[in-house]
Amino acid sequence: MSLTEFLGNPRIVAALHGMLASGRVPHAMLFAGPRGVGKFTLARMFAQAANCERLTDDFCGECDRCRAIARLQDTQALIKQGLAERGESADSATVERVPLILETHPDVWAMVPDPVRLKTPVARPVLHVGQLRAVQRAAYFKPLAKRRVFIIDGADTMRWDHANIFLKILEEPPETATLILLAPNPYLLLPTIRSRCLQFFFSPLALEQVEQVLRLRDDLPAAQRKAAAQLAEGSPGVALGMNLAEATELRKSVLQVLAAMIDKGSSTDLFAETARLTKGQKMPFESVLEVFYSLLNDLLELSAGFAGQGLRNPALGKELARLSRQVDTAWITGVVEALDELGGRLRRNVNRQLGLDAIALSLSEALQK
Ligand SMILES: [Zn+2]
Repeated sequence: MSLTEFLGNPRIVAALHGMLASGRVPHAMLFAGPRGVGKFTLARMFAQAANCERLTDDFCGECDRCRAIARLQDTQALIKQGLAERGESADSATVERVPLILETHPDVWAMVPDPVRLKTPVARPVLHVGQLRAVQRAAYFKPLAKRRVFIIDGADTMRWDHANIFLKILEEPPETATLILLAPNPYLLLPTIRSRCLQFFFSPLALEQVEQVLRLRDDLPAAQRKAAAQLAEGSPGVALGMNLAEATELRKSVLQVLAAMIDKGSSTDLFAETARLTKGQKMPFESVLEVFYSLLNDLLELSAGFAGQGLRNPALGKELARLSRQVDTAWITGVVEALDELGGRLRRNVNRQLGLDAIALSLSEALQK
């Protein structure tokens, strides 16, 4: 095995390799980029390379440490196990007392947003203060192998007042530990934290690379592979876990909402559309928002007069082209800003149906003026 087997983002891989080779490993790094581009995978590979028994600037994948750390990749199983050990009906005290820590080797921990269902049924997974305190304590322990590595997935979900715990570790970093924070967008983190991390921005992969990864899925014939790769927009992780039929349906539904807004339908129609979209939705609301952004991006390019060569949603090109003739940049920017705001409110658990209705209604009113 080798770091170079990581698919995509070769400059980041080369930088990590260089750090290990020179022995200058930073105490904190931030991996930022879209969901499913391999941030967690590369963090795990780095942890292996930092601790491999045989190699110093890469990992063999065969020694005991490499194999133990490799098991971290099965996060869903580890989360399930962790939650089962804690007990089903965890209250907030239990959550703080028994923080969710994924650990397959004592030196390498992964923290993921805790999906505990608290009293409010819509609570979204967040990093809890107990998890951050556990990292704070453990970061100063001497490693059993070579380096303690803490992978903090969903770093954007920690509350900003809790983030100060992190700041303390970052201000007086332990010699033998590295924290790797993962987040979709660095600007979702406190500036004081962001600025103390070495930042890496992950790009989406090329369509062909995502298709290559999709060969691992034998349930997808070649023709569907291309469609799935296109919908995944450069994220192999998204492509691998995608239900193609559901994903295609979601795009169509979101486009219908946009069409209803643009075609100046009555608010009754808009309510019907948004209700249908949000109620029947199995996907996380963040994914629905991503689809909105993707379609709006196409609309923006089409309305600006691009030929539509590189549309993100080529299958919906005809309808997008029709709609693009009825809107301008200002309108599209307005929708994007409204969605940004909704995304922000969502972090504070606003009723999602209410949010979408309000946006649809106000934009359709704006159009009618
Ligand atoms: Zn090894």
